[in-house]
Amino acid sequence: YQGKRGTADIVIFSGAGAGHPHQWLMVQAELRHALERDELVLHYQPKVGLPGGEVRGLEALVRWQHPQHGLLPPGEFLPAAEHSGLIVPLTEWVLRRALADQSCWTATGQDWALSVNVSARNLEVPGFPQFVLNLLAEVGTPVHRLILEVTETALVSDMDAAVRAIAQLGASGIGISVDDFGAGYTGLSQLRGLPITEIKIDRVFVADVAHDPQSQAIVRSVIELAHGLGSRVTAEGVETPEVCQWLAEVGCDEAQGYLFGRPVPWPQVSPVPVVPSTEVEGVSR
Ligand code: C2E
Ligand code: MG
Ligand code: MG
Ligand code: MG
Repeated sequence: YQGKRGTADIVIFSGAGAGHPHQWLMVQAELRHALERDELVLHYQPKVGLPGGEVRGLEALVRWQHPQHGLLPPGEFLPAAEHSGLIVPLTEWVLRRALADQSCWTATGQDWALSVNVSARNLEVPGFPQFVLNLLAEVGTPVHRLILEVTETALVSDMDAAVRAIAQLGASGIGISVDDFGAGYTGLSQLRGLPITEIKIDRVFVADVAHDPQSQAIVRSVIELAHGLGSRVTAEGVETPEVCQWLAEVGCDEAQGYLFGRPVPWPQVSPVPVVPSTEVEGVSR
């Protein structure tokens, strides 16, 4: 596996969502330069333990510091990167940079795990698991301190290569997280036999959980499912103390969301517990 950028030259405009080819071509050309000129930056969002609110890990979230358009969120350029194959070198860049950042915070005494989002396209590249293991060995990071977040699309059964890669990565001790669980194609059978260490409940179910009985039923059953599979469960998009409190009461292990911190460069992450849930209730009601 050479980690080459060859795949970047394959440009596919397919499917109804492809949109405006000319605009996409421009984004792709610019993005290729962005990778070469080091215009991408990583922000990190804390993932905290419940009920204590102590930081357990940071998730790397890529942004593009565009010379004209300012700081662009991933929604502005990842779709073009996915369609062009540029997502492959982009993810490699993210992994490299994030592991380097992690060694910096480890050196300052923070024992935070690192979560990195990985595209199904990466998982299909032969040798990707070995590439990740080599990177970890280079920086001297133990395998269990890296968590790779994959979405359900990477788990659908016709993507054998991706599923094999996940199995290999998991077997090596790297954490495997199912991101945005419940938001897309929920095939529970796909989870069977895979080394899943974490399930992240999509924020659409989390947002209303303090008041909406249906969201509550869904979140409760995902927690039960995750625990039954021997995985931790993390709620995404926690914005209020009420939601945090409810999640802690029903046994959700970890949480992430604006309540605990927005994505920021890692030196700005507050290491202090944000929400001791018992005190919050008294204050907010
Ligand atoms: P994700 O992995 O599900 O990340 C969570 C997204 O929700 C992030 O958006 C985060 O800023 C946002 N978020 C976190 N807490 C809250 C909250 O309390 N309320 C609300 N409304 N939003 C919250 P962001 O950074 O724009 O990233 C969007 C998506 O882009 C990510 O979703 C992930 O799928 C993808 N992405 C980001 N970085 C990378 C990357 O390096 N590689 C790949 N392949 N995908 C990435
Ligand atoms: Mg994620
Ligand atoms: Mg997510
Ligand atoms: Mg999400």
